[in-house]
Amino acid sequence: MQNHAGQILDGNLSTSIELAVDNLRNDLLIGLPTETVYGLAALASHPKAIAKIFEVKARPTNHPLILHIADYQQLEKWAKNIPQYARNICEHFWPGPLTVILMRSKNVCDEITGKRETVAIRIPNHKVALSLLNSLNDGLVAPSANRFGKVSPTCAKHVVDDLGDDVSLVLDGGICEIGVESTIIDCTSNSPQILRSGGISKSDLEEIGKIEIAQSDGDSRAPGMLEKHYAPICRVELLDSLQQAMHRLNEISAQGLAVEILDFNDDLEMYAKQLYARLRLADDRQIHTVLAVMPSSGGLGDAIRDRLIKACAANYG
Ligand code: AMP
Ligand code: MG
Repeated sequence: MQNHAGQILDGNLSTSIELAVDNLRNDLLIGLPTETVYGLAALASHPKAIAKIFEVKARPTNHPLILHIADYQQLEKWAKNIPQYARNICEHFWPGPLTVILMRSKNVCDEITGKRETVAIRIPNHKVALSLLNSLNDGLVAPSANRFGKVSPTCAKHVVDDLGDDVSLVLDGGICEIGVESTIIDCTSNSPQILRSGGISKSDLEEIGKIEIAQSDGDSRAPGMLEKHYAPICRVELLDSLQQAMHRLNEISAQGLAVEILDFNDDLEMYAKQLYARLRLADDRQIHTVLAVMPSSGGLGDAIRDRLIKACAANYG
């Protein structure tokens, strides 16, 4: 086998897909582009490779992984007792940034779920990811391709910057269209709950699923949903308006510290797409404080606000 450790390959080439398949079958981890963020992927039926994901990321083994599948028909292979509303939302929003929690079938190994009886599943909406999944007779488990607790990668270079040779190769699929992680909805009960906000809004899920959804917090949050996460090295301060941010900019720069403002004039799609890249850039430029103007809530705004609040909480960790 050729050794491409840490190399970025064009994901649109069939030779790259073939090499990725070969590496995965040999228990190596690869960097996988999706529309949300880049994943660190292993074959769902290879527990040894899955164990490596936890090692490389320094991720606690009780933080379960999302299983990525190629098409809706495969859902039955990995999940059982699927409620009708869950089928409806999956059929409608897949491929897309929606992860459903369902009861797991016997095909799901303990390493994926941290021995839970439930499994998180989605179909990514990305040409390269789908082309790879369609070349496998298997699913892919993939958390974000960064060290645990840090900022997620939204381009191939971010993955190599973070993981270096710990990833056998990265399939380059360009910059992630959405830029923040998927919406996670727990469908294991008759009263579904959103466990993480993401690219699909609560109101769209309620409309398509004909359901009422609760936003979970406290103890009912998903395992692995921490108060502090998605953290750059710089401080992140949250502001309600650009005016407030300008005021703080003057105060902080008067102390001789490098400071910058993160604001997208409430363009939620642009904010989500650029959020992680901008935080990484701030670290590269040794910025002391990023002043993030909070977007309005609702839809993608909820996902951005959630990530910013967790990045900010990490200042005080
Ligand atoms: P990520 O950290 O982006 O890989 O997202 C994975 C997250 O999905 C985990 O941290 C959990 O919060 C959630 N998750 C995955 N599997 C399950 C499961 N079986 N039950 C509940 N939540 C899960
Ligand atoms: Mg992550």
